[in-house]
Amino acid sequence: MEINGWYRDHFEFRIGGRYIAMRHIYPLLDMYKLKYEISVPGLSEMGQDIPLIKIGGGSEIVLGWSQMHGNESTTTKALFDFLKFISQKQYFQTEIEEFLHKYTFYVFPILNPDGAKLYTRENANNIDLNRDAKRLSQKESQCLRKIFDAVKPSLCLNLHDQRSIYGFKDGKPATVSFLAPAADEKRTTTDSRKIAMQQIVKMNTFLQQYIPGQVGRYDDSFNEACVGDTFQKAGVPTILFEAGHFNRDYQRETTREFIFYSLLSLFEIIGGKSQSIRYGQYFDIPENLKNYNDFILRNVKLPDEKKLVSIAVQYEEVLRNDEIIFSPVIDAIGNLKNKFGHKEKDAKGAEILTNSQDKLTVGTNISEIIDKFDKSIIYFQ
Ligand SMILES: [Zn+2]
Repeated sequence: MEINGWYRDHFEFRIGGRYIAMRHIYPLLDMYKLKYEISVPGLSEMGQDIPLIKIGGGSEIVLGWSQMHGNESTTTKALFDFLKFISQKQYFQTEIEEFLHKYTFYVFPILNPDGAKLYTRENANNIDLNRDAKRLSQKESQCLRKIFDAVKPSLCLNLHDQRSIYGFKDGKPATVSFLAPAADEKRTTTDSRKIAMQQIVKMNTFLQQYIPGQVGRYDDSFNEACVGDTFQKAGVPTILFEAGHFNRDYQRETTREFIFYSLLSLFEIIGGKSQSIRYGQYFDIPENLKNYNDFILRNVKLPDEKKLVSIAVQYEEVLRNDEIIFSPVIDAIGNLKNKFGHKEKDAKGAEILTNSQDKLTVGTNISEIIDKFDKSIIYFQ
């Protein structure tokens, strides 16, 4: 059986969408605690459990954490797809046995349960945990550091989501991005970075068959406050995963599949082995550019202006009644020649009206755009 065939019929359908908090994963953890060791090495600032799952019994120790940023849930969904895959008893049994013997994989499915509940990047004290690696001022940061020191991993996986603003020069969106974080200001290619780069090259090679040209490389400026940079500096290879946008997939149900494949490829359950991979190929992966918006309306006539402009709209994610609402906000107005829209429309010179009575400005929340003269709807959410 091909892996995508398995995925289509067997992914973890019990969790989905963008809003994933502790209460969504508790039923799954209850089930998996019969099979894996699940501990609670710490509590969040608001006193929620921070569970840690231990998988396998091998000598290669890997430590991963998802939802360090509470509103970045795609990799959490992929982790539960991964758990479901390695727990089934029908397919890829030889590869799964090998994985369980070779590795011990410790993973925090939700490192920031308070942020997950509130659907915020930060924790309950408005602290970005990925800028707290040095100060360790928050309980969640302390919990991760404690486990890092205790299990002494030989590889770390820092699992995140990126916004839908990233793409490449040729106009493709960045569906998955990776980074081997720098270990110093000079961005030296240290031994631990080389290992991280090699692993990224391996995952990228596998992903190319599904999303050719849609895998990117993040900016590697060094920041000691970031967890990945800190661990890399300590000599432990660390990989940043960024789940991004795939065509119309605002729930990120397709991107989760690519993160799932990335994990399988990393652990060599699918795809090849990494021995022959040159780390230098990492630099051939295109760098992420901030060149995308969710929607771009081209050739719009603004009152009192002769030149036609483009209007870029970006969705803000808002938690309402346990669901994520995508609220459109004007992000830019101008010629926007170097920008791409996940969706684009040509207004063909029409002068427009919006639901907001004010003059069109960046930051305005809009839900419809109407042709001023014939009153036809150009954009509606
Ligand atoms: Zn993040």
